[in-house]
Amino acid sequence: MLYRFSHKAYRLPLVSPLRTAQGLWREREGLILRLEDETGRVGFGEVAPIAWFGTETLAEAAALCAQLKSEIDERDFEAVPARYACVSFALAQARAAQPVPMTATRLPVAALLPAGRSVLTVLREKVEAGYLTFKWKVGVGAVDDELGLLDDVLALLPPHTRLRLDANGGWSRREATRWLERCAERPIEFVEQPVAPGDRDALLGLAQDYPVTLALDESVVRLAQAREWQALGWPGVYVIKPALAGPLDELAAWAAATKPDLVLSSAIETVLARTAVLALALTQPLTQRALGFGVGNVFGDRLWDGPVLGPLVDASCLSVQPGEALWNALS
Ligand code: MG
Repeated sequence: MLYRFSHKAYRLPLVSPLRTAQGLWREREGLILRLEDETGRVGFGEVAPIAWFGTETLAEAAALCAQLKSEIDERDFEAVPARYACVSFALAQARAAQPVPMTATRLPVAALLPAGRSVLTVLREKVEAGYLTFKWKVGVGAVDDELGLLDDVLALLPPHTRLRLDANGGWSRREATRWLERCAERPIEFVEQPVAPGDRDALLGLAQDYPVTLALDESVVRLAQAREWQALGWPGVYVIKPALAGPLDELAAWAAATKPDLVLSSAIETVLARTAVLALALTQPLTQRALGFGVGNVFGDRLWDGPVLGPLVDASCLSVQPGEALWNALS
């Protein structure tokens, strides 16, 4: 099959810059790909890299797309290097048929809580809105300050709700030890990426030494990395941002075959990539854990944010295929 290929760049300021252990993130940049096959069927895909997270850079992705000819075929798809997992995700998305799934499935969504004292204000709002799972960004301030806040946060949680902590790899092993000791007697669903993504010994050691469940995120950006950790016997959760991991069908096949303890999570992508991920999550039983898509209106623009996701998501959020509108909004 021959495809006509074209791409456009987007750049969207974030309504509230995101504070992470890696610094402040102010705008989302990416690419929208368009493929038209010989029958005239048009599909769109989104390239949404996060270079500091370990993906290809936007410049690399754009250069690769600029090298692709206006007519491409199977060999061009296969020639995309494995490191370009965001481009692979987008090409696969644009090629896939995108029918609106008919399913009654409803999945819980985890609400994202900001680092620092504002966590308490936002948590009250999210509890009020009906969320049952919360994820708090830690590893940003001093350990003592954040540990002091932890019990205030837990005190605000209603029964039967869960708290995830995400350190974004920002702790030293010693700091992680202090946190995990503290978490041992507390109702923590899991602690995400306590130490640097490449520190295998520390991650495996901490997972063995403490009862709280640990999750990998930055360590498993691409699906190939998740497979490596699986081979090492990782006993915890895999937080996968599908838009960064590679073709969605490969992720689905891996999850179906090996049954990892999986969380699907946002890469602060637009509604385009998000729709593909949620369609998969709603049609295949890949995970029981709340989706990491409770990021709110990140762009402050309904066109790019898409439908507001509440505490539960169902197929109604997939009723609009956003590709064409986004494409037409870009010059
Ligand atoms: Mg994370």
